Amino acid sequence: MTAFLEVRDLKKQYPGGVRAVDGVSFDLQQGQTLGVVGESGCGKSTLARLLLRLIEPTFGTVRLNGEDLLALKSAQLRERRRDMQIVFQDPYASLDPRMSIGEAIAEPLDIHNIGNRADRRAQVLKWLDRVGLPRTAAERFPHEFSGGQRQRIGIARALALRPKLLILDEPVSALDVSIQSQVLNLLVDLKSEFGLTYIFISHDLSVVEHIADQVAVMYLGVIVEEGPSQAVFNAPQHPYTQALISAVPHPDPRMKRQRMILGGDPPNPANVPTGCRFHPRCFKAQAICASMPPPAQAMLDHPAWCHFPGP
Ligand code: ADP
Ligand code: MG
Repeated sequence: MTAFLEVRDLKKQYPGGVRAVDGVSFDLQQGQTLGVVGESGCGKSTLARLLLRLIEPTFGTVRLNGEDLLALKSAQLRERRRDMQIVFQDPYASLDPRMSIGEAIAEPLDIHNIGNRADRRAQVLKWLDRVGLPRTAAERFPHEFSGGQRQRIGIARALALRPKLLILDEPVSALDVSIQSQVLNLLVDLKSEFGLTYIFISHDLSVVEHIADQVAVMYLGVIVEEGPSQAVFNAPQHPYTQALISAVPHPDPRMKRQRMILGGDPPNPANVPTGCRFHPRCFKAQAICASMPPPAQAMLDHPAWCHFPGP
Protein backbone atom coordinates (compact mmCIF):
# COMPACT_ATOMS: atom_id res chain seq x y z
CA MET A 1 0.00 0.00 0.00
CA THR A 2 1.36 3.41 -0.87
CA ALA A 3 1.37 5.89 1.96
CA PHE A 4 -0.44 9.21 1.72
CA LEU A 5 2.92 10.97 1.93
CA GLU A 6 6.04 9.04 1.00
CA VAL A 7 9.42 10.70 1.43
CA ARG A 8 12.63 9.02 0.31
CA ASP A 9 16.23 10.07 0.90
CA LEU A 10 15.42 13.76 0.76
CA LYS A 11 18.45 16.05 0.81
CA LYS A 12 19.13 19.77 0.73
CA GLN A 13 22.63 21.14 0.56
CA TYR A 14 23.41 24.83 0.69
CA PRO A 15 26.61 26.47 -0.60
CA GLY A 16 29.58 25.96 1.71
CA GLY A 17 28.81 22.27 2.20
CA VAL A 18 25.86 22.89 4.53
CA ARG A 19 23.93 19.60 4.67
CA ALA A 20 20.72 21.04 6.13
CA VAL A 21 18.66 17.94 5.32
CA ASP A 22 20.81 14.93 4.66
CA GLY A 23 18.73 11.90 3.69
CA VAL A 24 15.28 11.90 5.28
CA SER A 25 12.77 9.12 4.58
CA PHE A 26 9.37 8.43 6.11
CA ASP A 27 5.82 7.38 5.33
CA LEU A 28 2.79 9.21 6.67
CA GLN A 29 -0.74 7.80 6.52
CA GLN A 30 -3.74 10.02 5.87
CA GLY A 31 -5.34 11.42 9.01
CA GLN A 32 -2.22 10.98 11.13
CA THR A 33 -0.11 13.63 12.81
CA LEU A 34 3.64 13.26 12.45
CA GLY A 35 5.59 15.22 15.03
CA VAL A 36 9.09 16.29 13.96
CA VAL A 37 11.35 17.21 16.86
CA GLY A 38 14.97 18.23 17.27
CA GLU A 39 17.12 21.13 18.37
CA SER A 40 17.18 24.42 16.52
CA GLY A 41 19.23 24.13 13.31
CA CYS A 42 18.69 20.38 12.79
CA GLY A 43 16.83 20.95 9.50
CA LYS A 44 13.15 20.95 10.47
CA SER A 45 12.13 24.08 8.55
CA THR A 46 14.22 23.07 5.57
CA LEU A 47 12.40 19.74 5.55
CA ALA A 48 9.03 21.54 5.69
CA ARG A 49 9.95 23.71 2.72
CA LEU A 50 11.25 20.77 0.74
CA LEU A 51 8.02 18.81 1.25
CA LEU A 52 6.00 21.70 -0.18
CA ARG A 53 8.64 22.34 -2.82
CA LEU A 54 9.02 25.92 -1.67
CA ILE A 55 12.71 25.11 -2.12
CA GLU A 56 14.11 22.54 -4.54
CA PRO A 57 15.79 19.47 -3.09
CA THR A 58 19.32 18.42 -3.96
CA PHE A 59 18.20 14.78 -4.01
CA GLY A 60 15.32 12.48 -3.15
CA THR A 61 11.61 11.99 -3.81
CA VAL A 62 8.34 13.20 -2.29
CA ARG A 63 5.11 11.46 -3.27
CA LEU A 64 1.65 12.63 -2.25
CA ASN A 65 -1.00 10.01 -2.94
CA GLY A 66 1.53 8.30 -5.19
CA GLU A 67 2.21 11.40 -7.28
CA ASP A 68 5.84 12.51 -7.56
CA LEU A 69 5.75 16.17 -6.50
CA LEU A 70 9.27 16.83 -7.72
CA ALA A 71 8.35 15.82 -11.26
CA LEU A 72 5.49 18.35 -11.50
CA LYS A 73 5.74 21.30 -13.87
CA SER A 74 4.96 24.68 -12.36
CA ALA A 75 1.28 24.80 -13.42
CA GLN A 76 0.64 21.31 -12.01
CA LEU A 77 2.57 22.19 -8.87
CA ARG A 78 0.42 25.28 -8.37
CA GLU A 79 -2.68 23.11 -8.61
CA ARG A 80 -1.24 20.54 -6.19
CA ARG A 81 -0.40 23.28 -3.67
CA ARG A 82 -4.11 23.47 -2.91
CA ASP A 83 -3.67 20.14 -1.15
CA MET A 84 -0.67 21.17 0.96
CA GLN A 85 -0.43 24.29 3.06
CA ILE A 86 1.91 25.58 5.74
CA VAL A 87 1.56 27.60 8.92
CA PHE A 88 4.75 29.38 9.92
CA GLN A 89 6.23 29.98 13.33
CA ASP A 90 6.21 33.76 13.33
CA PRO A 91 2.67 35.13 13.13
CA TYR A 92 4.13 38.66 12.95
CA ALA A 93 6.20 38.01 9.83
CA SER A 94 3.78 35.74 7.98
CA LEU A 95 1.00 38.30 7.36
CA ASP A 96 1.35 41.25 4.99
CA PRO A 97 0.84 44.35 7.18
CA ARG A 98 -0.90 46.24 4.34
CA MET A 99 -3.50 43.56 3.68
CA SER A 100 -6.72 43.43 5.69
CA ILE A 101 -7.45 40.13 7.44
CA GLY A 102 -10.30 39.50 5.00
CA GLU A 103 -7.98 40.03 2.04
CA ALA A 104 -5.32 37.79 3.59
CA ILE A 105 -7.74 34.88 4.09
CA ALA A 106 -9.29 35.36 0.63
CA GLU A 107 -5.95 35.67 -1.16
CA PRO A 108 -5.37 31.93 -1.72
CA LEU A 109 -8.91 31.69 -3.13
CA ASP A 110 -8.19 34.65 -5.44
CA ILE A 111 -4.95 33.09 -6.63
CA HIS A 112 -6.71 29.84 -7.47
CA ASN A 113 -9.72 31.61 -8.97
CA ILE A 114 -12.16 29.97 -6.59
CA GLY A 115 -15.64 31.48 -6.40
CA ASN A 116 -16.79 35.04 -7.04
CA ARG A 117 -16.38 37.99 -4.70
CA ALA A 118 -19.48 37.15 -2.70
CA ASP A 119 -18.44 33.51 -2.30
CA ARG A 120 -15.02 34.52 -1.12
CA ARG A 121 -16.49 37.00 1.33
CA ALA A 122 -18.72 34.25 2.73
CA GLN A 123 -15.70 31.96 3.04
CA VAL A 124 -13.75 34.61 4.94
CA LEU A 125 -16.58 35.03 7.47
CA LYS A 126 -16.98 31.27 7.81
CA TRP A 127 -13.27 30.82 8.55
CA LEU A 128 -13.18 33.71 11.01
CA ASP A 129 -16.03 32.03 12.90
CA ARG A 130 -14.32 28.69 12.74
CA VAL A 131 -10.98 29.86 14.14
CA GLY A 132 -12.66 31.87 16.89
CA LEU A 133 -12.26 35.45 15.65
CA PRO A 134 -14.99 38.10 15.34
CA ARG A 135 -16.33 38.78 11.85
CA THR A 136 -15.33 42.41 12.23
CA ALA A 137 -11.71 41.21 12.00
CA ALA A 138 -12.14 41.02 8.19
CA GLU A 139 -11.84 44.80 7.87
CA ARG A 140 -8.93 45.16 10.27
CA PHE A 141 -5.16 44.86 9.84
CA PRO A 142 -2.54 42.53 11.33
CA HIS A 143 -1.06 45.09 13.76
CA GLU A 144 -4.42 45.22 15.57
CA PHE A 145 -4.12 41.57 16.66
CA SER A 146 -2.15 39.62 19.24
CA GLY A 147 0.24 36.80 18.37
CA GLY A 148 -2.35 34.14 19.16
CA GLN A 149 -4.98 35.88 17.04
CA ARG A 150 -2.55 36.26 14.17
CA GLN A 151 -1.78 32.58 14.32
CA ARG A 152 -5.54 31.89 14.11
CA ILE A 153 -5.60 34.10 11.01
CA GLY A 154 -2.65 32.16 9.56
CA ILE A 155 -4.52 28.91 10.19
CA ALA A 156 -7.68 30.26 8.52
CA ARG A 157 -5.65 31.37 5.52
CA ALA A 158 -3.96 27.96 5.27
CA LEU A 159 -7.27 26.11 5.47
CA ALA A 160 -9.21 28.32 3.03
CA LEU A 161 -8.23 26.09 0.10
CA ARG A 162 -9.31 22.98 2.02
CA PRO A 163 -5.91 21.29 1.90
CA LYS A 164 -5.41 17.63 2.79
CA LEU A 165 -1.99 18.12 4.36
CA LEU A 166 -1.10 20.92 6.75
CA ILE A 167 2.51 21.50 7.74
CA LEU A 168 2.78 23.38 11.02
CA ASP A 169 6.28 24.74 11.53
CA GLU A 170 6.57 25.61 15.23
CA PRO A 171 3.03 27.05 15.15
CA VAL A 172 2.86 27.85 18.87
CA SER A 173 6.53 28.39 19.72
CA ALA A 174 6.26 32.19 19.51
CA LEU A 175 3.12 32.34 21.66
CA ASP A 176 2.68 32.79 25.41
CA VAL A 177 2.28 29.46 27.18
CA SER A 178 -1.28 30.41 28.21
CA ILE A 179 -2.21 30.92 24.54
CA GLN A 180 -0.38 27.85 23.23
CA SER A 181 -2.90 25.31 24.47
CA GLN A 182 -5.84 27.27 23.01
CA VAL A 183 -4.25 27.23 19.57
CA LEU A 184 -3.28 23.56 19.96
CA ASN A 185 -6.84 22.66 20.88
CA LEU A 186 -8.10 24.54 17.84
CA LEU A 187 -5.69 22.58 15.64
CA VAL A 188 -6.85 19.28 17.14
CA ASP A 189 -10.51 20.19 16.49
CA LEU A 190 -9.86 21.35 12.93
CA LYS A 191 -7.96 18.18 12.16
CA SER A 192 -10.84 15.89 13.00
CA GLU A 193 -13.47 18.19 11.50
CA PHE A 194 -11.73 18.44 8.13
CA GLY A 195 -9.98 15.06 8.07
CA LEU A 196 -6.57 16.69 7.86
CA THR A 197 -3.13 15.14 7.97
CA TYR A 198 -0.57 17.12 9.97
CA ILE A 199 3.17 17.42 10.06
CA PHE A 200 3.75 19.19 13.33
CA ILE A 201 7.24 20.58 13.77
CA SER A 202 8.52 21.71 17.15
CA HIS A 203 11.62 21.88 19.26
CA ASP A 204 9.28 21.54 22.26
CA LEU A 205 8.74 17.86 23.06
CA SER A 206 5.90 18.40 25.52
CA VAL A 207 3.85 20.04 22.76
CA VAL A 208 4.55 17.22 20.31
CA GLU A 209 3.78 14.52 22.86
CA HIS A 210 0.34 16.12 23.24
CA ILE A 211 -0.55 16.23 19.56
CA ALA A 212 1.39 13.64 17.53
CA ASP A 213 0.51 10.05 16.60
CA GLN A 214 3.95 9.40 15.13
CA VAL A 215 7.22 11.08 16.02
CA ALA A 216 10.44 11.55 14.07
CA VAL A 217 13.49 12.78 15.99
CA MET A 218 15.96 14.73 13.84
CA TYR A 219 19.63 15.34 14.48
CA LEU A 220 21.89 17.19 12.03
CA GLY A 221 19.65 16.66 9.02
CA VAL A 222 18.67 13.03 9.57
CA ILE A 223 16.04 11.08 11.48
CA VAL A 224 17.69 9.21 14.35
CA GLU A 225 14.57 7.61 15.82
CA GLU A 226 10.95 7.30 14.79
CA GLY A 227 7.81 5.50 15.80
CA PRO A 228 4.47 5.79 17.50
CA SER A 229 4.50 8.77 19.83
CA GLN A 230 3.82 6.63 22.92
CA ALA A 231 6.69 4.28 22.10
CA VAL A 232 9.20 7.04 21.41
CA PHE A 233 8.30 9.08 24.50
CA ASN A 234 7.91 6.15 26.91
CA ALA A 235 10.77 4.00 25.66
CA PRO A 236 13.25 6.13 23.73
CA GLN A 237 16.01 3.99 22.24
CA HIS A 238 18.43 6.59 20.88
CA PRO A 239 20.73 8.41 23.35
CA TYR A 240 19.86 11.70 21.66
CA THR A 241 16.11 11.14 22.14
CA GLN A 242 16.79 10.17 25.74
CA ALA A 243 18.75 13.38 26.31
CA LEU A 244 15.99 15.51 24.73
CA ILE A 245 13.30 13.87 26.85
CA SER A 246 15.36 14.19 30.01
CA ALA A 247 15.51 17.95 29.46
CA VAL A 248 11.70 18.34 29.44
CA PRO A 249 10.47 19.65 32.80
CA HIS A 250 8.11 17.12 34.33
CA PRO A 251 4.80 18.43 35.71
CA ASP A 252 5.10 16.16 38.73
CA PRO A 253 8.30 17.09 40.61
CA ARG A 254 8.35 13.69 42.36
CA MET A 255 8.89 12.18 38.92
CA LYS A 256 12.02 14.23 38.45
CA ARG A 257 14.02 12.66 35.69
CA GLN A 258 17.76 12.37 35.66
CA ARG A 259 18.71 15.27 33.43
CA MET A 260 21.26 14.37 30.76
CA ILE A 261 23.43 17.19 29.57
CA LEU A 262 24.68 16.98 26.00
CA GLY A 263 28.40 17.63 25.89
CA GLY A 264 30.65 18.43 22.96
CA ASP A 265 30.36 21.09 20.30
CA PRO A 266 26.96 22.20 19.05
CA PRO A 267 26.14 20.42 15.79
CA ASN A 268 27.28 22.12 12.60
CA PRO A 269 25.69 21.01 9.32
CA ALA A 270 28.72 22.37 7.40
CA ASN A 271 30.91 19.88 9.27
CA VAL A 272 29.02 16.63 9.80
CA PRO A 273 30.96 14.08 11.90
CA THR A 274 31.93 10.72 10.35
CA GLY A 275 30.14 7.53 11.36
CA CYS A 276 27.23 8.32 13.63
CA ARG A 277 26.84 12.10 13.44
CA PHE A 278 25.82 12.21 17.10
CA HIS A 279 28.92 10.38 18.37
CA PRO A 280 30.98 13.42 19.53
CA ARG A 281 28.22 14.26 22.02
CA CYS A 282 27.13 10.74 22.92
CA PHE A 283 27.69 9.18 26.34
CA LYS A 284 27.52 5.68 24.82
CA ALA A 285 29.98 6.24 21.96
CA GLN A 286 32.47 3.47 21.15
CA ALA A 287 35.11 3.25 18.41
CA ILE A 288 32.62 1.93 15.83
CA CYS A 289 30.43 5.02 16.27
CA ALA A 290 33.13 7.27 14.82
CA SER A 291 33.71 5.09 11.77
CA MET A 292 30.43 3.45 10.75
CA PRO A 293 27.07 5.13 10.14
CA PRO A 294 24.63 3.17 12.31
CA PRO A 295 21.97 1.00 10.64
CA ALA A 296 18.32 1.19 11.69
CA GLN A 297 17.83 -1.13 14.64
CA ALA A 298 14.26 -1.97 15.47
CA MET A 299 14.17 -2.22 19.23
CA LEU A 300 10.68 -2.64 20.70
CA ASP A 301 9.22 -2.38 17.18
CA HIS A 302 10.39 1.12 16.38
CA PRO A 303 13.67 2.00 14.71
CA ALA A 304 16.58 4.00 16.10
CA TRP A 305 19.69 4.66 14.05
CA CYS A 306 22.22 3.78 16.73
CA HIS A 307 24.90 1.11 17.20
CA PHE A 308 23.89 0.69 20.85
CA PRO A 309 20.18 1.42 21.14
CA GLY A 310 18.29 0.74 24.34
CA PRO A 311 17.66 2.23 27.74
P1 ADP B 1 15.50 24.24 12.14
O1 ADP B 1 14.21 24.62 11.49
O2 ADP B 1 15.51 22.82 12.63
O3 ADP B 1 15.92 25.19 13.20
P2 ADP B 1 16.64 24.92 9.56
O4 ADP B 1 16.04 23.96 8.61
O5 ADP B 1 16.09 26.29 9.58
O6 ADP B 1 16.65 24.29 11.02
O7 ADP B 1 18.20 25.05 9.25
C1 ADP B 1 19.04 23.89 9.14
C2 ADP B 1 20.45 24.35 8.83
O8 ADP B 1 20.50 24.84 7.49
C3 ADP B 1 20.95 25.47 9.73
O9 ADP B 1 22.33 25.26 9.99
C4 ADP B 1 20.77 26.69 8.88
O10 ADP B 1 21.71 27.67 9.22
C5 ADP B 1 21.01 26.15 7.48
N1 ADP B 1 20.27 26.90 6.46
C6 ADP B 1 18.92 27.05 6.40
N2 ADP B 1 18.56 27.79 5.33
C7 ADP B 1 19.72 28.12 4.69
C8 ADP B 1 20.04 28.88 3.51
N3 ADP B 1 19.08 29.43 2.76
N4 ADP B 1 21.34 28.98 3.17
C9 ADP B 1 22.31 28.42 3.92
N5 ADP B 1 22.09 27.70 5.03
C10 ADP B 1 20.82 27.54 5.42
MG1 MG C 1 12.82 26.10 12.04
